[in-house]
Amino acid sequence: MRARSDQLTREQLLSSETAITSPGRDEARLRACLLYSNSYHTGMSSLAVHTLYSLLNGLDELSCQRAFLPSTEETERLNRHRQRLSSLETDTPLDDFDLLAVTTSFELDWLNLPLCLDLGGIPPRRSERTDAHPFLLGGGPCFTANPLPVLNLFDAIYIGEVEPRLPDLQALTQLPRDQWAEYLSTRPGFFVPGMTRSPVQRQYATMLDKIITATAILTPHTEFANSYLIEMSRGCRQGCSFCLAGQIYRPMRNRPMEALLGPIQSALAHTRRIGLVSASVSDYPRLDQLCHALMQMDPMPLVSVSSMRADGDNRALFELLAASGQQSVTFAPETGTETLRQSVCKRLSDEALFQGITDASDAGLTSVKLYFLVGLPGETEHDRAAIVSLVEHLTRDFPGCSFTISINPFVPKPHTALQAAEVPDYRTMRQLLATVSTALRRLPRVQVRAGSARWAAVQTAISRGDEHLASALVAASTKQVDFSQLRRLFAEAGSNLDQIGIPPIRDGQYPWDIIAMPTAPASKAGL
Ligand code: SF4
Repeated sequence: MRARSDQLTREQLLSSETAITSPGRDEARLRACLLYSNSYHTGMSSLAVHTLYSLLNGLDELSCQRAFLPSTEETERLNRHRQRLSSLETDTPLDDFDLLAVTTSFELDWLNLPLCLDLGGIPPRRSERTDAHPFLLGGGPCFTANPLPVLNLFDAIYIGEVEPRLPDLQALTQLPRDQWAEYLSTRPGFFVPGMTRSPVQRQYATMLDKIITATAILTPHTEFANSYLIEMSRGCRQGCSFCLAGQIYRPMRNRPMEALLGPIQSALAHTRRIGLVSASVSDYPRLDQLCHALMQMDPMPLVSVSSMRADGDNRALFELLAASGQQSVTFAPETGTETLRQSVCKRLSDEALFQGITDASDAGLTSVKLYFLVGLPGETEHDRAAIVSLVEHLTRDFPGCSFTISINPFVPKPHTALQAAEVPDYRTMRQLLATVSTALRRLPRVQVRAGSARWAAVQTAISRGDEHLASALVAASTKQVDFSQLRRLFAEAGSNLDQIGIPPIRDGQYPWDIIAMPTAPASKAGL
């Protein structure tokens, strides 16, 4: 679905923004642009964009602006008038910046990246660029998991959380452009193609106490319109075997309650909508006290949360959400049977799920959203039928609730326990999704949202891909091809979307083992 922001001019987008932190300046020794290769709506819904924008603009002698994937109409207009993609703040063409910082949350956004670069007057492949072009630095969860498919596009890729290595970016302001690659190749966490020896250690912030990760700019044109999002913790204790976030944000770290309340109180001067962000809000150690403190604020914030565990003690949280006017609650049982759930290390019993929904509906949260995966290793027809039985059971037990069921194809991710799992081909996956969705749609008060089997196959191919995919990504992106052309391009690059195989092991290693994931102990920071 198209976002309204796609039809707005940059002046209209800028005029609807309220800056919480200092906006990007134009004048500075080093001029950077943060490029997000998806729409303004999607990019500004990402806390990573806000965080990087704040952190980069907080560095001395460095200014950072933003650029996003233009709409189809805007792309045509740029091509027709031979104009270049430019920054939101000052309409500066991308190729006029010194540094282009690219962040990506989803592998499929890499399909848009070469187009953005091309429109910005920057050759997508590193081999076609010179020091006269901006330095391309990539970072974000997909890069940290497996940067190989886009390695040949970037001058450097950063692996991990940016906070501990900000001094290295600051140092670039004092160095000539032609020394950046060599300098970064000596710094931890930076992968400079042709210079860095692998494996590269993922970097992470040991403490979050002094770091605020929160919305930098309020705008109505995001998924969380005019909401101030703030990260309360990073990482997850659970360790589900399919989950990338559970791996690349280790260890679990919590911010002290006081470090959350101060920024929230300040943000209330701009908006009452506050979003608490965490892999599992339920796991926050002082959740009851935090909820109580938020209820006491004047004005009381209208709180929403990113996700929670059904088996957590969520009662204080449910009370806060209901008092905030929320009606919905989201849980992720992932599978229909407890057996399959246990096999992917998702520790949630059906009984706990029912109790979680009981507590939520008792508090007035009667719109229940549930996430399921299809195509997990070891899954049988019985497991898929059990998704329908489970939801049917819920509709009977909770006649006052409505249910939105999200069913998504399983996509194996590097560095997870299921990194080498076989997945059904996309035609089979489409059939599996259709069978479950059709049965669910017959149930009363149930809405179904099913993911795309085709795009899950593309995502799997990219997430487990290697350098050979770069040519397919560049061709697919700059020519804006459809799925059948994409399938041909991927096949030419050695990746068969019709039957995605298990990734090759070379010398006992998977391609993405060029990235080392430190297994850090759980931190007590901030408690
Ligand atoms: S609980 Fe959620 S965030 Fe944590 S490991 Fe499992 S799926 Fe990932």
